[in-house]
Amino acid sequence: MARITLVQGDITEQDVDAIVNAANSSLLGGGGVDGAIHRRGGPAILDECRRLRAERYPDGLPTGRAVATTAGDLPARWVIHAVGPVYSRSEDRSGLLASCHAESLRVADELGARIVAFPAISTGVYRYPVEEAAEVAVGAVADAETEVEEVRFVLFDEPTYRSFERALQEARR
Ligand code: ADP
Repeated sequence: MARITLVQGDITEQDVDAIVNAANSSLLGGGGVDGAIHRRGGPAILDECRRLRAERYPDGLPTGRAVATTAGDLPARWVIHAVGPVYSRSEDRSGLLASCHAESLRVADELGARIVAFPAISTGVYRYPVEEAAEVAVGAVADAETEVEEVRFVLFDEPTYRSFERALQEARR
């Protein structure tokens, strides 16, 4: 089981083996953390995403799945693009949110990544309530059978950091 650590900060600055991107199905970039990763990582990431679309995912990467590319100019070696669900009040999509964490760790194992950083997937433009998302994310990572040694959640703001801190305390009880 991976050790879970929390930091408040910018995921693009993390010197880890792989960082996870809260991508969308198109893999062709977006706002939020996705925009920051492409901006800071340079065009090599988007080039590889375009190739993946053309060769493996003509209809886009399905929600709950993950795929890796180079990290371009970022300190990390790889970016693992994971597609979280858009939040819905009428439908429980927590399984998809858990899946994109589990799938990211499966991809990390394929790469041989040992330290992997995750943002708070789905809690921005996709509107997942942070408290719920934190519980699902921490639970999914805690349940994963993986060779990854450290999963570092990199939370952009203090309220999100606090939510993950609470979720981690709950999970450790
Ligand atoms: P989604 O579409 O999955 O909701 P967003 O990128 O809109 O993805 O938001 C996901 C989370 O990433 C939000 O909590 C947002 O504050 C955070 N975020 C935005 N930029 C960064 C960054 N550079 N590093 C870490 N987290 C970030």
